[in-house]
Amino acid sequence: MQLWFSELQTPHMKISCRVKEVLHREKSPYQEIAVLDTYQFGRMLTLDDVIQTSERDEFVYHEMLVHLPLLTHRDPRRVLVIGGGDGGSVREVLKHPSVEQVVLAEIDERVVEVARCFLPTISCALHDPRVRLQIGDGIRHVQENPNTYDVILVDSTDPVGPAVGLFSADFYRSVHAALRPGGVFAAQTESPFFNQDLIKRVYQDVSAIFTAAGLYLAVVPTYPGGMWSFTIGAKDGALHGWSRERAAGLPTRYYSPELHEEAFTLPVFVKELLEKE
Ligand code: SAM
Repeated sequence: MQLWFSELQTPHMKISCRVKEVLHREKSPYQEIAVLDTYQFGRMLTLDDVIQTSERDEFVYHEMLVHLPLLTHRDPRRVLVIGGGDGGSVREVLKHPSVEQVVLAEIDERVVEVARCFLPTISCALHDPRVRLQIGDGIRHVQENPNTYDVILVDSTDPVGPAVGLFSADFYRSVHAALRPGGVFAAQTESPFFNQDLIKRVYQDVSAIFTAAGLYLAVVPTYPGGMWSFTIGAKDGALHGWSRERAAGLPTRYYSPELHEEAFTLPVFVKELLEKE
């Protein structure tokens, strides 16, 4: 007998992965959490039947969400990750020796516990003494902590349920206020094929609130369409003054200084999407 997991990525498209074993399944107060052992991608975390991360391709997303903004900041010491309960972004943040503290503001405590139990290669840095776990809504956390962080990263679920507000202009204004001078912000912003209105709106909002804004892409095979976008904003500065010296020393499998150099060179259809009135 073959066991398959399917995610309806759009109303008209599915991704299906053959499952060796269902390792865990539970309903938390926020969502249905599952860990599947799959033949193609190794262990995979799903929330409400949407793939969040997998052992084989997680490095792409986590390295790209984290390293561009941290290298854009001159001296990142205090970092906030909103969402990101699997711990992959925290692991990448802690590769930067200047970081003194990383706060993980995750709404669902059970995601963190499940990742600790079943996804050790992704959650491995959560026990580091520099990590402070803050269980609660990331939107409230930024509202209550003005002028606190050097870098804020939004590693959220898709814009449904508690994550809707993480894609709003009001939230970006609170993020701007929660950053110290010279602060940098980055967020995952969905698929350039299937979420064009959202990408355009977020880019416009971030451009209006921050002094510099940019969009870059990475290929994440388990996400809808494979091509994924990230939006970055700098509080007082440009996005081009990043540190090649610090980048050269990072142990990575996707991110590289050469790739960073070209990160804002976009495919024509994405560039046109951002320029369109
Ligand atoms: N890399 C993933 C992706 O793009 O599919 C995201 C993974 S991470 C597990 C997303 C986390 O965001 C979830 O664990 C969810 O509980 C959390 N989350 C959603 N809305 C949130 C909010 N308002 N505040 C804090 N965490 C939130």
